[in-house]
Amino acid sequence: MSGWQHRHILDLSTFSTDDYAAVLQLADRFRQLPVTGARRLPALQGRLVASLFFEPSTRTRSSFELAAKRLSADVMSFSPSSSSLSKGESVLDTARTYVAMGADVLVLRHRSTGVPQQLAEDLDRLGERAVVLNGGDGLHSHPSQALLDLLTLARHFNPKQPTPDVLQGKRIVIVGDIIHSRVARSNLWALTACGADVVLCGPRSLLPTEFADFVAAPPPGQARDPVPERGSVTVHHQLEQALPGADAVMTLRLQKERMRQQLLTSLERYHRDYGLSHQRLQLCGKPVPVLHPGPVNRGVEMTGDLLDDPHVSQVEEQVRNGVPTRMALLYLMAAAESVAEPSLVSISS
Ligand code: ASP
Repeated sequence: MSGWQHRHILDLSTFSTDDYAAVLQLADRFRQLPVTGARRLPALQGRLVASLFFEPSTRTRSSFELAAKRLSADVMSFSPSSSSLSKGESVLDTARTYVAMGADVLVLRHRSTGVPQQLAEDLDRLGERAVVLNGGDGLHSHPSQALLDLLTLARHFNPKQPTPDVLQGKRIVIVGDIIHSRVARSNLWALTACGADVVLCGPRSLLPTEFADFVAAPPPGQARDPVPERGSVTVHHQLEQALPGADAVMTLRLQKERMRQQLLTSLERYHRDYGLSHQRLQLCGKPVPVLHPGPVNRGVEMTGDLLDDPHVSQVEEQVRNGVPTRMALLYLMAAAESVAEPSLVSISS
């Protein structure tokens, strides 16, 4: 795993193709571990992972906590409603309390863009050893979700060797509320880095045409893009234009909590225009997998029938892939700060 340069994991715009390859390779190995029984890897023994979710989460939080436990780390959880936040303590001060208690990794989710970045900068400035893993910030970034999506897609295209290059030239359609989606933004970096051609589709109010340039310039604060050549990004406002030729489709939840104004006339209308169904998927011209990061609104982003169809819906597979992907991230972060790589003794290579 030498070559891993990231102290904190905040945003995939800084990831190189080798970084994606390292995560996929390790996540796929972790995926082969039995999910039941007492078998844990000793890799993070003696480390403390604090899971600080200032915004609701079902999947990401439990998945990170399980991943940390599978690597034998101690886990501390934080709940905003019963914390000193209600007494006026700032988010950053709350997070630093966990560092003072010895947390090595802070998995942080917050409704405001940039909070994980600010915490990482504070820790670096103070010379603290603890590292930050972004569990989703505002509408900016959700790295672990895009990486588990990548594993899901790569395994779909090549179950035996799910490497980044199996995405090369694949047409991946992302449908829905793109403007409010940190999942879409992180997937744009990840998928184009692997050479996929991404097609974005949604109503104009949720998908400005400027998204076609999202990965065109070097990422903010970076002199150059760590990925020399990326796949393309295209914007369409009608599914009839987006779906033909698709190799996979990802649909996203309408992020009502982030909408400042009425951006849709009705959910029925949205479902009629952008909802996925078995019938609509015929436009792809071949059977394709459908991904959704969850939580899903049945009958809005897709029909209940489609969601429950294991031949098409990858939603449960995404959840399954979340744990090994997050184990890989925790492992790589721990490996980057140790002299010796953490032990992987119980995995046969
Ligand atoms: N769970 C994802 C997120 O936290 C997607 C969503 O909430 O719609 O961004």
